[in-house]
Amino acid sequence: MINITDKTLCCGCTACMNICPKHCIEMLPDEEGFLYPKVRESECIGCNACDKVCPVLNHRTIEGKSPDSYALRSKDKDNLMKSTSGGFTLPLAEYVFSKGGKIWGAVFDKKFRVHHVCFGADGEDFRRTRGSKYVQSDLGNCFSEIKKDLKGGKIVCFIGTTCQVYGLHHFLGKEYDNLITVDLVCHGTPSPKLWQKYLDHQKNKYKSEIRRINFRNKTYGYHCGTMLIEFENGKKYTGSARVDYMLKSFFREISSRPSCYECHFKDLNRVSDFTIFDCWHITDLVPGVKDDDKGYTNLFVHSEKGRKVLDEISGRYDIYPTDTEKAIDLDGIMVRGRAKKHPRRDEFFSDIDDHDLTAHIQKYLPISKMDHIVEAGKTIINKMGIMVFFWKLKNRK
Ligand SMILES: Cc1cc2nc3c(=O)[nH]c(=O)nc-3n(C[C@H](O)[C@H](O)[C@H](O)COP(=O)(O)OP(=O)(O)OC[C@H]3O[C@@H](n4cnc5c(N)ncnc54)[C@H](O)[C@@H]3O)c2cc1C
Repeated sequence: MINITDKTLCCGCTACMNICPKHCIEMLPDEEGFLYPKVRESECIGCNACDKVCPVLNHRTIEGKSPDSYALRSKDKDNLMKSTSGGFTLPLAEYVFSKGGKIWGAVFDKKFRVHHVCFGADGEDFRRTRGSKYVQSDLGNCFSEIKKDLKGGKIVCFIGTTCQVYGLHHFLGKEYDNLITVDLVCHGTPSPKLWQKYLDHQKNKYKSEIRRINFRNKTYGYHCGTMLIEFENGKKYTGSARVDYMLKSFFREISSRPSCYECHFKDLNRVSDFTIFDCWHITDLVPGVKDDDKGYTNLFVHSEKGRKVLDEISGRYDIYPTDTEKAIDLDGIMVRGRAKKHPRRDEFFSDIDDHDLTAHIQKYLPISKMDHIVEAGKTIINKMGIMVFFWKLKNRK
């Protein structure tokens, strides 16, 4: 029976909950807001299916040749600008839909909680999944749903963090030709409880409900991505990792799940068909390609199935073969490396309920007056840049 005594050994993937033949495992939040399995012992029959399916407890390294490697971006400019990096997933989703398949990705719900949703059958707009949400996504019973569809012969694609993809493969227990998986290189998934505190803080500050959120909006370019929040009352907030509470705590490694700092899935060879991650150094990676600050995605292709799918959709991207090790050297430290836990990470969560968010962040990750001045300067310079652009346009002969 699964019993989590060491939290670094549970990534919250839900494989154990989904495999339980008695449905007596629930995923419940701990005091930091991360979901962990809890067994209703009176109903447990002691089959140990939950222990046997755990991707962390049963992890095995995959031997094999290194993946094919590419840098790419979607040719669809709207998709490119609304995605975090190069917008890999929309053309893939359209391929899956064209085969009558379904695709699972992470979205915000109406209250801006992050969870996985299935697209395809009901025609709901897959574009909602675009953009990284730096919060752990709730998978619910999606693994069981995926298994049903795979057995029914449907093509199913699942996109998620590496541990989620491993959890799915362990849960399924065998290869399915009709399954496509995409994992995101990841350095950690922040706490849903911190996220809720952040949302409440922003709604109070702007005295409005939220209409739209983008964690890595490209207004100031790919290299200067900012949090963007649009409010129902028409107001708008932007903040870079220099001043934004959520981004700062994410990039300073203070807000992730305990298992992220001991991640078991950091490897070049993976169970997924595709691995995607940020591409910050396109010019160094692909000589001759200009960096126009709109973003590219690094892509690894691990399987024959992945190669066939990419063959079908590659016309939808500007795509360049790359050297795998060079891509890792330049942008992929997190392919093999684990994030180093902030020394005050446990303290950060121990008194998270004792302060409002501003006081809490000032205690652990102080934001200085100078940080605010630099941030404001950037906004002004950007506005001036845009004004100069329009001025030049107007005066063009
Ligand atoms: C929590 C997290 C941590 C990451 N850490 C790194 C990192 O350290 N280094 C790095 O290079 N890249 C990291 N990434 C990946 C990066 O942010 C981009 O997703 C990647 O560059 C691909 O961009 P894209 O434009 O092709 O796709 P995107 O527009 O980013 O969309 C890709 C897919 O991500 C999925 N997704 C979004 N949020 C989540 C979530 N919370 N959980 C599961 N799936 C989600 C959506 O289903 C979407 O289809 C991380 C992503 C996440 C979600």
